[in-house]
Amino acid sequence: MRYVSTRGQAPVRDFSSVLLAGLAEDGGLYLPETWPVLTAEDWRALRGLPYPELAARIIAPYAEGSISFDVLLRLCREAYASFDHAAIVPLTQLEDGLFVQELFHGPTLAFKDMAMQLLGRLFDHVLEQRDEHVTIVGATSGDTGSAAIEACRGRARLKVVILHPEGRTSDVQRRQMTTVLEPNVTNLAVQGTFDDCQDLVKAMFADAPFRQDMRLSAVNSINWARIAAQIPYYVYAALALGAPDREVSFAVPTGNFGNVLAAWAARRMGLPIRALCVGSNRNDILTRFLHDNDMSVHGVVPSLSPSMDIQVSSNFERLLFELLNRDAAACARIMTGFRQTGRMDVPDAVWRQAAGLFHGLALDDEATKTEIRHLNDASLYLADPHSAIGIAAGRMFREPGIPMVAMATAHPAKFPDAMEQATGTRPALPKRLGDLFDRPERYEVVPARLEAVEDKVRAAVLKNFA
Ligand SMILES: *Cc1c(COP(=O)(O)O)cnc(C)c1O
Repeated sequence: MRYVSTRGQAPVRDFSSVLLAGLAEDGGLYLPETWPVLTAEDWRALRGLPYPELAARIIAPYAEGSISFDVLLRLCREAYASFDHAAIVPLTQLEDGLFVQELFHGPTLAFKDMAMQLLGRLFDHVLEQRDEHVTIVGATSGDTGSAAIEACRGRARLKVVILHPEGRTSDVQRRQMTTVLEPNVTNLAVQGTFDDCQDLVKAMFADAPFRQDMRLSAVNSINWARIAAQIPYYVYAALALGAPDREVSFAVPTGNFGNVLAAWAARRMGLPIRALCVGSNRNDILTRFLHDNDMSVHGVVPSLSPSMDIQVSSNFERLLFELLNRDAAACARIMTGFRQTGRMDVPDAVWRQAAGLFHGLALDDEATKTEIRHLNDASLYLADPHSAIGIAAGRMFREPGIPMVAMATAHPAKFPDAMEQATGTRPALPKRLGDLFDRPERYEVVPARLEAVEDKVRAAVLKNFA
């Protein structure tokens, strides 16, 4: 499979190169040159497969020419062996026609593990083939950092350095990162804000000699392999509920548009998906777009669902490119205009197509707590604030006879304060994290200055860990 950039000015690449490159050189995002399409017979043949095998079969056409099916199957089995639920992505019924699929049974209790656990192993495999090493660098306000660290810990070809703002993440979030003691993991507590951390990471990537010497790389949410690894659970749920002989709809709590884009990709592959519902908090750029074609950037408002506190949804560019019938020049023009003006000028015909397939619902914190309370009372279900928003969107747009599956993206124990406000009790951490507060931590405090941070990264990369 070959990959093209949404802006048309970057080299065409294979899966492995796209995996390592992340963003394309022209600022665009990579997409497969053609979409693999399955027939009804093909879908039926996938029914009943264990999740890791289903995942390998769905991802295989995207990795064709780079990674063999046997290797992919082994990596998928290893990736999901660390999950603490036998079904990996269990489905639960909440109401008539309304289901929830839990994506949070991985090591960090959030859906990022679904893709990251595979991504770390894919990186290691490709780097070994090429006899190369890379240093994964990232900034985190909490969740993405721990998923990246869990994905990279102990991998021979990877070093990982994560910057977090000192004293500004929750204790659970910090400890999920700093109690990982493998020598290839470095946590830097930056004396500054999350924005400082992000700026420092950008500055390191912009320092070309440093970037090359340290072989910097990223695993952020625009990496195509992350999207590919998120397609299989939509297939798993749809097959369980009657596809391809019955349509299914999905509801997804959305930030960067990565998770719901994977659902769109499953639909593009021929899975009979009727509607895609996008849930947001007060940072509702997507809902405003779907309602009024108003894709304009507002300031970020902190909410009970911090992983959806976003200004722009970077993966939306992939959908835009597709809805423009892959007109890369038009896509580049629209994205450049968006960057300059803060408002995306989406052609009316494109907006109509998007609004015909996607539905948006935004809930503020009060409505989110009401939804959490309702689910707890009416269905004995404990949903974290992100998942509750997705479920509310699913209920809102459910149609008779068509199962609606809402994606649960985080374990409620990750958000004990919000859960206590909504239900009166604090959920316990699952067994695997029960001793989190007894584990030793390791991190280094560093001033928010580029030279200081680069020194720490250099030391981490050159450290000889025999
Ligand atoms: C990352 C995240 C989301 C948003 O997913 P996108 O792919 O960015 O849309 C939603 N919920 C949780 C808990 C997350 O960690």
